[in-house]
Amino acid sequence: MIKKFFKRVFRKPAKTKTVGNAQVIPFKLHGVAREQISYGALKVTDGLQAAGYQAYVVGGAVRDLLLERTPKDFDIATDATPEDVRRVFRRARIIGRRFRLVHVMFGEEVVEVSTFRRMIEAEDAQTDEHGRLLRDNEFGDQEQDAARRDFTANALFYDPSTQEIFDYHRGYADTRNGLLRIIGDPLVRYREDPVRMLRAVRLSAKLGIELDAATAAPIAKMKNLLDNVPKARMLDEVLKMLLSGHSLECIQQLRRMNLHHGLLPLLDVIWEQPMGEKFIMLALRNTDERLSQDKTVSPAFLFAALLWHEVLAAWNLRVQQGGRPIGAMHEAMDEVLARQKAQLAIPHRQDAVMKEIWLLQQRFDQRAGQRPYRLLEQPRFRAGFDFLLLRCASGEVDDELGLWWDEFQDASEERRVEMLQPEGAGDKKRRRKPRKKKPASESATGSVGESSGEHSADEHTGRQDTGRAYE
Ligand code: ATP
Ligand code: MG
Repeated sequence: MIKKFFKRVFRKPAKTKTVGNAQVIPFKLHGVAREQISYGALKVTDGLQAAGYQAYVVGGAVRDLLLERTPKDFDIATDATPEDVRRVFRRARIIGRRFRLVHVMFGEEVVEVSTFRRMIEAEDAQTDEHGRLLRDNEFGDQEQDAARRDFTANALFYDPSTQEIFDYHRGYADTRNGLLRIIGDPLVRYREDPVRMLRAVRLSAKLGIELDAATAAPIAKMKNLLDNVPKARMLDEVLKMLLSGHSLECIQQLRRMNLHHGLLPLLDVIWEQPMGEKFIMLALRNTDERLSQDKTVSPAFLFAALLWHEVLAAWNLRVQQGGRPIGAMHEAMDEVLARQKAQLAIPHRQDAVMKEIWLLQQRFDQRAGQRPYRLLEQPRFRAGFDFLLLRCASGEVDDELGLWWDEFQDASEERRVEMLQPEGAGDKKRRRKPRKKKPASESATGSVGESSGEHSADEHTGRQDTGRAYE
């Protein structure tokens, strides 16, 4: 009887209540159920709460659930210190130096747990000369933790045990209205951390929600602050964009906001080459599709695609100046990578894979004798072939070449023998090469692949060795 009475009383309003400065949104209003939270995240919030701490799912996961998207991961915010958290869970590891987080492991799932922290008051804050925050590692309470987050939609706390959402910045209403709004004064917040400008672009593109006008407005004026962000962090953010599953929208949005300068510096040039732009757009669409099908995407493949037309241009120039195709290719690759390194710290590990993919392109034209068989055995064949298909789709090389390799890979031995091109053609070209320099400059107008039949036997061996060096 009493239960029923209370139920009726509580059902009627289905409105938010206020606790301190937070609006508390009940399940009835937001509809995010405990069952939508991952196994590990529930274990963590239940475990911490049972030990007497506060614990909430926070950030991207709550936002994504409200937008009816599948969260990438579930982050937890708590008033327990990292040491407290480690005491509660058997398989927990403290990570990070600047701000210590705890990773709690449940089989495959890793749940990131962070202690509430606060923004450091202006007078205590350590900033660089541009106002960028260098230190933000003070513990705080839930309200302070909300205030130091970037967007209102990212500052919602969900309690799985009561199914309530705690909202200090009207993030619930913004999310429902499809708005991405920065918390506080946009000028101050971008100055503290310029990467927030890129996050604004990425999140609005990825979630298909609009950037609030006041959040978007200062970006054009403040974008130069991105120059002071450490390269590793920029690379991180660019990769997040490219691998967001919405890379095409992200890049287009960056471009609209004129933010793409300096991120991948050569993109600026590439947009001006009609073929380059088509190739990049295809590569990005291809990446987005793969991600939507839960296929893996390699960052190296993507960077290789983004930079391909720069490599081609640098290569063409060298060959026109009389350089030998293979040597010119190595120089072109190094030059383009060096230029990128000045902006983005692409790890050397990626360099090797990118170079392999680029170098393989020259070998797809060689369809006589044992060479196609050797190419099939290359560990990067698959990536190289996918790359070739992009080149075909963008109109850089004839579709026929892609179709040939598509068939050759899976063909029977008899069919393969039928498919092989006569050895003579390649030999003749190779013999012709040393006599005069002209073929090199002729080939400079075409693709790398078109010239590859003209390499001398030595160059050919050299190329294979190079290929192996990267294995
Ligand atoms: P994604 O879906 O890409 O993971 P996310 O919002 O969860 O999006 P994370 O980088 O995982 O992004 O960050 C988790 C949370 O940490 C964010 O939701 C936000 O509350 C906070 N956060 C992240 N980066 C910043 C930043 N630069 N400034 C302030 N708060 C940030
Ligand atoms: Mg996240």
